[in-house]
Amino acid sequence: MRDVPASSTPRPDAAAGPDPATLARRLFPIRRSLTGPGVRETLAVIGEHVPLAVHEVPTGTPVLDWTVPREWVLRDAWVEDLAGRRVIDLADHPLHALGYSTPIDAVVDREELLAHLHGLPDHPDWIPYRTAYYREAWGLCAAQRVIDGLGDPQYRVRIDAELRDGSLTYGELVLPGDTEDEVLLTTHVCHPGMANDNVSGMTVLTAVAAWLGSARRRLTYRVLFLPGTMGSITWLARHAAAMPPIRHGLTIAGIGDHGSHTWKRTEAEDAPIDRAVAVALRDAGEPFELLPFSPWGYDERQFNSPGFRLPVGLLMRTPHGTYPEYHTSADDLAFIDPARLAASVELVRSIVGILERDRIVTSLAPMAEPQLGRRGLYSPVGGATGRAPDQLALLWVLNQADGAHRLVDIAARSGLPFERIADAADALQAAGLLAA
Ligand code: ZN
Repeated sequence: MRDVPASSTPRPDAAAGPDPATLARRLFPIRRSLTGPGVRETLAVIGEHVPLAVHEVPTGTPVLDWTVPREWVLRDAWVEDLAGRRVIDLADHPLHALGYSTPIDAVVDREELLAHLHGLPDHPDWIPYRTAYYREAWGLCAAQRVIDGLGDPQYRVRIDAELRDGSLTYGELVLPGDTEDEVLLTTHVCHPGMANDNVSGMTVLTAVAAWLGSARRRLTYRVLFLPGTMGSITWLARHAAAMPPIRHGLTIAGIGDHGSHTWKRTEAEDAPIDRAVAVALRDAGEPFELLPFSPWGYDERQFNSPGFRLPVGLLMRTPHGTYPEYHTSADDLAFIDPARLAASVELVRSIVGILERDRIVTSLAPMAEPQLGRRGLYSPVGGATGRAPDQLALLWVLNQADGAHRLVDIAARSGLPFERIADAADALQAAGLLAA
């Protein structure tokens, strides 16, 4: 245990970590899936910035009600006319392959081919993102415009892919703090060729993790880069018997688009993390939205299930599924904004800053207001040295310090920025007026 006061906060000048927009350009083209080399390559890139432990869980391992699937290795996928002209080619876009497609190498009739092609009639130039994770099928995805142009009676299809015994891969980073109480930070690493969902989440979380690694920490931080759903179920299965003390959690996904920040609350709705995020969003001074919990979403669903009930909410921008570019090739690097990525890194840092300082406070002089002047805490014209004590913040903390309220609650109720409330609480604690 290091000697760090309870109020210590990661310093904002701690090493900045990678630039999220630069990292996004590197992660975007990798052919990711639930398992296989794309996930490993992604974790290797992230591992250049943070000391990630990479876990491999073998195919067939029982994980809660599921089983770790076979590993999918995709080498090539294309459709050619019989003259050898490529009409669909994985080399042009990672979304062209149906995720977990079984292999095929055959000349097929047009009708049969069309039954295995996935397009978007409403957006004929976009390639959809489709997977066949839990059924065996071959298929490709393409722009509807291309599909509609397939007029030959026969085509040659080749999907050079393999479903084989291997493993599910995930990345984990544990950054110990002065207490074992943990903050869980997760994002999914299984989507290919889409920037907002979810290169944005990977880049923001990598930047935050790099910053946390260089910061002083009261709390312990556990950062997980998981293939969606199966990854979190696998992690939960491996920790169910001895779950670490996770007090707060954020799943981060879809956080680079032009929309404002959105927080989907934990199942508990008003866990300390829900209150901390609400105050951080308010203090950031930008528009934001708070959504009630719903079991539709990303890995927060698994963490909030009744057997675990870990307080994990979902931090995003425009909610998944509500914008037309979602799960299509239109979710490209132009769809995300470097300034938004940077602002989201900043927001998560401020949430961490609140979690580091937040605490329940109890007044040691609760009978009417204590005399502040005697303790150097009342100076109507400001202190001779340093900052003037923040009278309003001091009064709010003293009034609410009944052992039932957290500092975030006081910040929310008073309308004062969290930093002012926390500074006032530190001053009162130093003067012996407050216990925490
Ligand atoms: Zn998605």
